[in-house]
Amino acid sequence: MGTSGSKPLAAGPGVELTAGGVSAMGYDLMLSVMRYASPTTVAEAVDLLGSEADARVYAGATDLIPQIRAGRPEPTVMVDLKRIERLCAISANGSTYTVGAATPTADICADPGLVAAFPGLVEASGLIGSDQIQSRSSWGGNLANASPAADTPPSLIVNEARAVIAGPGGERTVAAAEVATGPGQTSLAPGEILVEFELDQPPARTADAYLRLIPRTEMDIAVVGAAARVTLDADGNVTAAAIALGAVAPTVVRVPEAEAALIGNQPSGDALAAVEAAAAAATTPIDDKRGTVAYRRQVAGVLARRAVTIAAERARERGGQS
Ligand SMILES: Cc1cc2nc3c(=O)[nH]c(=O)nc-3n(C[C@H](O)[C@H](O)[C@H](O)COP(=O)(O)OP(=O)(O)OC[C@H]3O[C@@H](n4cnc5c(N)ncnc54)[C@H](O)[C@@H]3O)c2cc1C
Repeated sequence: MGTSGSKPLAAGPGVELTAGGVSAMGYDLMLSVMRYASPTTVAEAVDLLGSEADARVYAGATDLIPQIRAGRPEPTVMVDLKRIERLCAISANGSTYTVGAATPTADICADPGLVAAFPGLVEASGLIGSDQIQSRSSWGGNLANASPAADTPPSLIVNEARAVIAGPGGERTVAAAEVATGPGQTSLAPGEILVEFELDQPPARTADAYLRLIPRTEMDIAVVGAAARVTLDADGNVTAAAIALGAVAPTVVRVPEAEAALIGNQPSGDALAAVEAAAAAATTPIDDKRGTVAYRRQVAGVLARRAVTIAAERARERGGQS
């Protein structure tokens, strides 16, 4: 990567600039010159992104750099979002939490307010990669990369997170569920960036949970991810439910039939059996080395049932506290 501005790599002893890259001591290193920009305001970032067709924003670059290394086209300008204070801030204002889109997931997992209010969303954030990855990875990158197997989108969705988006025309707010539209595709217009996420404090007797299955014990992507959030009344009956599955369709799948099966019932017995069946039926998974279609469907049902069970236990423990 080049240095700030459009300064080219300097030729020097043993280094010679060529049309295709750099030739050093007989080796053709094929390095091209990307420029690096580090804006400190949202407006500057939007201007930089709009300044060239091949400009790209990034937060942790834990998706972007591996993709470039794997042969995706190199951006001409890499716009680093991590120096914009608003994009890396976590705050609570009244009953609303605001989390900057570039905030490292390690900071999210260490925030006592978020841990208490959204244990499942924090669990999902804490599953991304390793400690090293989490010192860089962000919710904004996880959502904008639009991988069907991304871990945080199902939990953002069951918690009804809103995404604040800035672009050349100003700011707008949409449901986080509306951002990813297909593998690698988003509803962001050219020149738009995710600025922050807003989450409302859950009501009393409400909690979430997230579970995923990976083929190995570390550092793999989900075969299935399942997020659930439930609200109970004083008798333990479900009054509200949200269930979302990852890695089983091109985008996150909500399961309204499973949610309806829980309402008015204890989260046990027949209601949980209905959740499992509806979740399995809602999937349209791929067949690949991580799992067959039949396996993914079955796992989706099992994880949905277990995630509902854990969320309900947490909601019970939380009692009347919101
Ligand atoms: C070893 C390893 C393990 C991993 N494990 C997991 C895992 O277990 N689960 C999982 O879900 N992911 C995993 N990932 C993928 C990655 O770490 C996550 O998707 C992470 O959340 C991406 O965040 P980032 O800030 O690094 O994104 P970046 O790489 O910075 O950006 C990703 C994409 O989003 C765009 N983008 C970034 N920020 C914004 C913004 N604010 N507005 C608009 N567009 C934006 C970028 O242009 C790029 O297209 C792993 C990656 C690696 C390398």
